[in-house]
Amino acid sequence: MPKSYYQAKEILCSMGMEYKKIHACPNDCILYKHEFEEMHKCPRCGVSRYKVKDCDECSSDDNSKKGPPTKVVRYLLIVPRFKRLFANGDDTKDLTWHANGRNCDGMLCYPADSSQWKKIDHLYPDFRKEARNIRLGLSTDGMNPFGSLRT
Ligand SMILES: [Zn+2]
Repeated sequence: MPKSYYQAKEILCSMGMEYKKIHACPNDCILYKHEFEEMHKCPRCGVSRYKVKDCDECSSDDNSKKGPPTKVVRYLLIVPRFKRLFANGDDTKDLTWHANGRNCDGMLCYPADSSQWKKIDHLYPDFRKEARNIRLGLSTDGMNPFGSLRT
């Protein structure tokens, strides 16, 4: 176990599990990337990108005295994580099982038997040919969107 946060971060980065920091508007309007990367104020709400230092000599337009960013998003790079999954031979075998080891008996037993899976195979034949293709699913447990669980 790593003894510090910094040590844990070093281990994860060396394994290709790093993340990218992106500055964001504190009101969640924009991410400061692409065309907004050099901006110091949000073009929609006008809030400063950086924490403003209170001092008599600082003017509001002085960017040289800027503080740390008000909000930072940590973007987990997904491709290096997927590559990391395939670094272990046993995991690779499990990840390619849908293409290499599955018994296709016509019954609906696995996600790979579903019509959605087959539709993706039909729409993207090059993707299907690659046994290392990965499909992401989203599921929830305990979500109660309308609050009617007890009624
Ligand atoms: Zn904003």
